[in-house]
Amino acid sequence: MTAMSPIGSRTPCVEFAALFQHRLVEDPAPASAPVEMRRRSLMMTRKAQHLCTQCPVMAQCLYDAVVRFDVAGYAGGATAKQRAEIRVRLGIRVAYENFGSMAGVAAGRRQVDHDEVLRLHNANPEASLETIAVRLGCSLSTVKRHMRQARMAAAVAERAAPEPLPEMAEVLTAYRAIVTDPDDRRPYLA
Ligand code: SF4
Repeated sequence: MTAMSPIGSRTPCVEFAALFQHRLVEDPAPASAPVEMRRRSLMMTRKAQHLCTQCPVMAQCLYDAVVRFDVAGYAGGATAKQRAEIRVRLGIRVAYENFGSMAGVAAGRRQVDHDEVLRLHNANPEASLETIAVRLGCSLSTVKRHMRQARMAAAVAERAAPEPLPEMAEVLTAYRAIVTDPDDRRPYLA
């Protein structure tokens, strides 16, 4: 562990909420970002990943974040982009859900009404998502999450029959294939 230990009875994402809610962890810097920003983002994301590997509910958290809920930000030891890649590998699409209750992820954060995001977006089609985020007093990733939710809800509504959910083992195998572990330590996924 780093200087951040020890982890108490709360999940690491609650214990170290400032790290998990940092914009460079919620929305990791893209390849086009300045080198220093990418370096910081990678460092912080690895720290979050390391903390997730110490979390006793990591396997279930990862499963939920991949299969059941489309949460924003870092969760289950993976970024939102990595979880999307895991879904592609598994051949699944996550169903529309109200995922505000997911363990740790939404703790201490302002809940934004889904309909309000869509209403504002529809009422202001020219406004950027950043503008909507400022208006609602939430993060850009939250607005993006709600927009993604809306698209997925439409996609799910078109589906004739629900597909069977993947097994936990399949999700963990896909995780290992997508997410590299800089410390080579995943005690709860071994
Ligand atoms: S995001 Fe999930 S796995 Fe990571 S610390 Fe929080 S509850 Fe645990």
